[in-house]
Amino acid sequence: MYDIIVAGAGHAGCEAALAAARSGSSCLLISSDLTAVARMSCNPAIGGVAKGQITREIDALGGEMAKAIDATGIQFRMLNLSKGPAMHSPRAQADRTAYTEYMKRVLEAETNLDLLQDTVTGIEVRGGQFFGVELQSGRILRAGAAILTCGTFLNGLIHIGMNHFPGGRTIAEPPVTGLTESLVAAGFTTARLKTGTPPRVDRRSIDYSIVIEQKGDENPPPFSFSSGSIAGKEQISCFLTKTTHKTHEILRRGFDRSPLFSGKVQGVGPRYCPSIEDKIHRFTERDSHHIFLEPEGFHTNEMYVNGFSTSLPEDIQIAGLQSIPGMEEVKMIRPGYAIEYDYFHPSQIRRSLETKAVENLYFAGQINGTSGYEEAAAQGLMAGINASRKLKELPPIHLQRSDAYIGVLIDDLVTKETNEPYRMFTSSAEHRLILRHDNADLRLRKFGHTAGLVDDDTYRETLSKDDEIVRMTAFLRSKTIPAAALYNLLPAESNRPMTGGQKAASALKRPGITLNRLFAALPDFAKEARLISSNPLVHEQVEINLAYEGYLKRELLQTEKVARLESLILPETFNYHSVTGLSSEGREKLLHFRPETLGQASRIMGVSPSDISVLMVRLGR
Ligand SMILES: Cc1cc2nc3c(=O)[nH]c(=O)nc-3n(C[C@H](O)[C@H](O)[C@H](O)COP(=O)(O)OP(=O)(O)OC[C@H]3O[C@@H](n4cnc5c(N)ncnc54)[C@H](O)[C@@H]3O)c2cc1C
Repeated sequence: MYDIIVAGAGHAGCEAALAAARSGSSCLLISSDLTAVARMSCNPAIGGVAKGQITREIDALGGEMAKAIDATGIQFRMLNLSKGPAMHSPRAQADRTAYTEYMKRVLEAETNLDLLQDTVTGIEVRGGQFFGVELQSGRILRAGAAILTCGTFLNGLIHIGMNHFPGGRTIAEPPVTGLTESLVAAGFTTARLKTGTPPRVDRRSIDYSIVIEQKGDENPPPFSFSSGSIAGKEQISCFLTKTTHKTHEILRRGFDRSPLFSGKVQGVGPRYCPSIEDKIHRFTERDSHHIFLEPEGFHTNEMYVNGFSTSLPEDIQIAGLQSIPGMEEVKMIRPGYAIEYDYFHPSQIRRSLETKAVENLYFAGQINGTSGYEEAAAQGLMAGINASRKLKELPPIHLQRSDAYIGVLIDDLVTKETNEPYRMFTSSAEHRLILRHDNADLRLRKFGHTAGLVDDDTYRETLSKDDEIVRMTAFLRSKTIPAAALYNLLPAESNRPMTGGQKAASALKRPGITLNRLFAALPDFAKEARLISSNPLVHEQVEINLAYEGYLKRELLQTEKVARLESLILPETFNYHSVTGLSSEGREKLLHFRPETLGQASRIMGVSPSDISVLMVRLGR
C-alpha cells in the first residue's frame, strides 16, 4: 500500500507527486496517459505577470516547474522592466514536447515514486476517511491519502461552432467519467466552468515581412535559484500582428453559430481572458486587437495564435485568421475550441488543500476552479507537502498572504465566493512589494527546508545570502560617499550643488545611483564592500531594500497587524449559532466557509468588522 496516490499527472499532479515523494512518503502517480505528463494544454509558456513570481516561489519551496522551464524554454523575457521591481515578472515560451519529456524524466528518476497509466473513476470512503481509488481497469488501490488533480477532464465537453463532443483537454483526449458522481456521492457539490484555446497555425505560412519580430532578452536570468546561468541559451522569436476591421466583420458573421452566444455553453468562463468573439462583442469601440504568434517548440511548425481564443465554427476561424496582416495565406493546423468541465468549489477544502468532507483526500489544480499551469503547480506542491505531513502527524504548512503569492492564491480560494476560473494577478496581492520574484528564495526556502524538499546545503546558502544582505546594508549605512563623487554620478537634470557627503545607503535611494556605479567611482569603497559580498544577487537585494525602504516598512507593519488575527484559530466545530451579536449574513457566511483563523474570517465577504470583534471577544473568553 502506498502512502499517497496522486490522480492526474498534469502541472498540479507532477508537483504533488514529487513533493510527496521528496518529503519521504511513498507515492503512486496514476494518469490516463503517461506520454502527456505536464502537457501544456493552451499557451506553451510559463510565467508572466504574477505567474512568474509563483514559478519562482515553487522553486524556492523545492518544486520542479522553474527548473523544467529553464531546461526547455525557447524564449525568455523579463516583463514590466519599465515598472518597479514588484511588477518585474519572468516569462518564457516553452518547447511543449521537451517540457513534457523533461518532467517525465524527473518523475521516473524519483526514488519514492511509481507511475501507473490508468484512470481513477471513483473513490472509496470509510468512516469519513479516504480509503482507496477505483480504477478504470477495475482494480481498487488503497493508500493513506489521495490528491486529485484532474484538470478539465471531469465530464469535459468540447465545443467548436454548433458541434460538441466529449473531450478531456485536447480534442484527442477523452474525458473522465464516473469520478464526479463518486465525489458527489461522498458529499461534494460540483458546478461547471469553461475555458478556451486558440487555433494553431503552420509557421511556414506566415509572411514575416509584415509581422513584427519580438526577440527574447539577451541575458535572461534563470527561473530557478539553482539552475545556474542560462544566458547563452538558444532562443527563437515570437511575432506580433493584430486583427483588423475585416477580421471582426468575418467573425461576427459566425456569431449565430457561436456556442458561447447561443447558450450552448453553460459553464462560466474567465472574464479576464475573453475569447476573440467575446472581445469583439464586448469592446465594440475597438477595431483591432493584438495577436502574438508564438512558436510551440524548436522542432515543430506549429504556432500558437495568442489573443485569438475562439470556439467559432472552423470555416469562420480560418477566414478570420486569413484577414490578419501577415496571415493572408495562413494554414490552420488545429482549430480553437471551448471546453466545459466539472469543478468543485474550493470552499470545500481547507488551507492545507485537504477536503472538508473526506479526511486525507486533497484537491489541487483546476479541479478547484483555478486556471493556469503555475496556479495548478503551486497547489499541487502544497497538497503534496501537506498530505505527506498529515500522514506523519505533522501540522500542515500554511503560507500567509504576506509570505507568498501561493499564500494569496490559497487564501483567496478558501475565502472567496468567485464562480469563474481563478487566476493570479499582482493586484490580488496586497503585499506585492514584499512578494517579488527576486526574493522568493529569501522568503520561502525555510518552508521548503521544513517540508524536506530543500536540502541542508541549499538552505545554508540562502541563510548566508540573507546574512550578507544584512551586513552589506549595515556597511552602506556606515560609509559616507564624498559630495564630489556623488555630484558626478547624479544625472545632469538632477545635479544640484551638494552641501556635503552622504551615507551610501541614502545615496542609493537617489535615481540613477547604483552599487555598480559607486564601485566604479570609488575603488577603495568597492574593495571593502566586496569583502562582505561580491554576489550580484546580494547587491540587487540591498539596492531594492534601500530604494523602497519606506514602502517596505509600511507593508511590514501591515503584515504584523494582520498576523495577530491569523494567529487566532477558529476550530472547525466552532458553534456560530451560540454566538450572540453576529449579523445574520456574517453567521451564514461563517457557517458556509468555516474559516480556520480570525484573519481568514475577516476576509470573507459579508463578515463585517463588528462580527470580527464579536468573535474576538468570544475567543478571548
Ligand atoms: C482548452 C484549454 C484552454 C486553456 N486555456 C488557458 C489559458 O488561456 N490560460 C491559462 O492560464 N490556463 C488555461 N488553461 C488551463 C490550464 O491548462 C490548466 O489550468 C492547467 O493545466 C491545470 O493543471 P492541472 O494539473 O489541474 O490539470 P491538467 O494540466 O489538465 O492535467 C490533468 C491530468 O490529469 C489526468 N487525469 C485527469 N483525470 C484523471 C483521472 N481521473 N485519473 C487519472 N488521470 C487523470 C489527465 O490525463 C492530465 O494528464 C486551459 C486549459 C484548457 C484545457
